[in-house]
Amino acid sequence: MNFKDYGLCDEILKSIELLGYKKPSEVQEKVLPLALKDNDLLVKSQTGSGKTASFAIPVCEKIVWEENAPQALILSPTRELCVQIKEDVSNIGKFKRIKAVPVYGKQPFSMQERALKQRTHVVVGTPGRTMDHIERGTLKLEKIKYLIIDEADEMLNMGFIDQVESIIKSLPKDRVTMLFSATIPEEIEVLCKKYMKNVKKVEI
Ligand code: AMP
Repeated sequence: MNFKDYGLCDEILKSIELLGYKKPSEVQEKVLPLALKDNDLLVKSQTGSGKTASFAIPVCEKIVWEENAPQALILSPTRELCVQIKEDVSNIGKFKRIKAVPVYGKQPFSMQERALKQRTHVVVGTPGRTMDHIERGTLKLEKIKYLIIDEADEMLNMGFIDQVESIIKSLPKDRVTMLFSATIPEEIEVLCKKYMKNVKKVEI
């Protein structure tokens, strides 16, 4: 397969070209067609497989620029990963002028609040700080159409799973959920059964 075969818009194809991605990686080949059709997904894959682009490409493709509230929420266990995902989303969404805002602890709340007040399409956050923003009303969730949970097993190991569940409960029910994890322990299966619909499983 080639990136041109997925019906992606020119702006996204142009950024993929600029990034130097010639062919979709294995995870991208499996995830892209399903994600572009708005399926809920449980993806078992490792870091380094190109999994970030496998969700960032469909999310950027589906973002409606004019909408004045965040449309995608990406949860990740660490600050470093948040920053990395934010960069990837910004690069892929470059020619669509997609604005991604990272929210994580140990950075002034006010700075993130100011960023969220501007037009924001995608929010990339750690569970704790994301929850803080939701509780303080600085992160609006009404228009969230895509929820991505990255490195779900790490969230579990780091004790974030209850916060992740609280965040899921605050989101609109009419949404697409994609969960990525290197391993699928029982607790992750339970989360999928509870909060996802007609889940398609992808294993790399
Ligand atoms: P990830 O697994 O998302 O951390 O990605 C690992 C690395 O692969 C990152 O540096 C990406 O920029 C790169 N990458 C992702 N997709 C592709 C692709 N289709 N072709 C070449 N490199 C890629």
